[in-house]
Amino acid sequence: MSKRDYYEVLGISKGASDDEIKKAFRRKAIELHPDKEGGDEAKFKEVNEAYEVLKDSQKRQRYDQFGHAGVGGASGGGNPFAGFGGQGQNVNFDFGDMGGFGDIFGSFFGGGGQQRQSRPKRGRDVEMALELDFEEAVFGVETEVKLNLNDTCEHCKGKTVEPGHQMKKCDTCKGSGQEVRVAKTIFGNIQQAVTCQTCRGKGEIPEKDCSVCGATGVQRKDKNVKIKIPAGIDDGAVIRLREYGEATANGNKGDLYVNIRVKPHKEFTREGLLILSSVHIDMVDAALGTETEINTVDGPVKMKVPAGTQSGTDFKLSGHGVPHLKSDKRGSHIVTVEVDTPVKLNKQQKELLEQFKNSDKKRGLFR
Ligand SMILES: [Zn+2]
Ligand SMILES: [Zn+2]
Repeated sequence: MSKRDYYEVLGISKGASDDEIKKAFRRKAIELHPDKEGGDEAKFKEVNEAYEVLKDSQKRQRYDQFGHAGVGGASGGGNPFAGFGGQGQNVNFDFGDMGGFGDIFGSFFGGGGQQRQSRPKRGRDVEMALELDFEEAVFGVETEVKLNLNDTCEHCKGKTVEPGHQMKKCDTCKGSGQEVRVAKTIFGNIQQAVTCQTCRGKGEIPEKDCSVCGATGVQRKDKNVKIKIPAGIDDGAVIRLREYGEATANGNKGDLYVNIRVKPHKEFTREGLLILSSVHIDMVDAALGTETEINTVDGPVKMKVPAGTQSGTDFKLSGHGVPHLKSDKRGSHIVTVEVDTPVKLNKQQKELLEQFKNSDKKRGLFR
C-alpha cells in the first residue's frame, strides 16, 4: 500500500509555513486521537509521521526532493508514540509557541511541558551565609565551612549499583525509559508517555541496589568546603561555587551560594573602597597643629594635623583603604578630625583664655 502524501495527510499546501504545519498537526492530532471517541489510530499515526518529517526543515527538504524514500519511510510500528519524537524521548506535542494553547495543553500533561525533560537533572543548589570580620573582608581570607548535604554516595560512586554488580534492563519500561499513562483532558482520554518511575527514565536499573544509598546515588553527609574569599569583598556579596551543591544520581551537582555578611567594626566603617574613621584632638592642638596616631587596617599610622584645623575636616591616608577586587589598587582611609572643647577649666585656665580673648578684640582669629 502506498503512503499518502504528508502534506495531504495534514491537509496543507506544499508551501505551508512552519506555523501552519504546527496548527494543522494540532488540529488533526486532537481530531484523530485513538483514545478519544471517534479517534482513528491508523490515521493518528499517519498524522504524527507526517508531522515528524515536515516540522524538521532538513527532513522536509529531503521529503520534498525524494518523497517518502528520502526520509526512510519512518513508520510508527506498534508504538502509538513513535511519531512523537521517536525512541527515548517523551511526548512532545511541540505546542510551546502556539499562544495560550500551549499553556493549557501543557497543564493537562502535569505541568507546563516539564514532562518532556530528557536533559540530565541537576542536584539542588545550596545556600549559606558566611560572616566575616571587617579585616577578613578587606584582606580576603581562606576559610572552611561545614555543610550537611546530599553528596555523591562513596560506596557506589553515585552509580546506584552495589559494587561488583551490573545494571540491567528496566522491567517496567523494557528499557525505553517511558511508561504510558492515560490523561483525562477536555478532548477525551489521551495516552501519554511519561518518564518511567522505576528507572527514572534511564531504561536500566541496578541488578543489586547499592547497600549504602539504596540506589539513590547520594548520601547525606557532613562536608567541609574550603572557600577562598577575595580581598575587597563587601557585605551583601554572593560567591557562587559551581557544583559544590547537592549531588544527584541523574546529573551534575548543584551550586553552592555563599552570602557574605561583614560584621561591623568598632572603629571603622566602609564605603566601597574607602575606610572611614574619626579622631578627636583638642582645641589647642587643632589651633597650634599636631601629629597624631591613626589606627588603620594596616596598623597605626602617623598623621599631621595642620595648625588651624576645623572640626569636621577630612584627611586622606592614601593606600590604606580597601583593595580593589580585580586589581592591586587600594582605596584610601579617610579620617575626620573632631575638635574637642575643654569642659572643666580651673580659675587660672579661665584667666588665660580671657587674656587670649582680649588679645583678639575683633574676633578675627576665628574667621
Ligand atoms: Zn550508593
Ligand atoms: Zn524503566
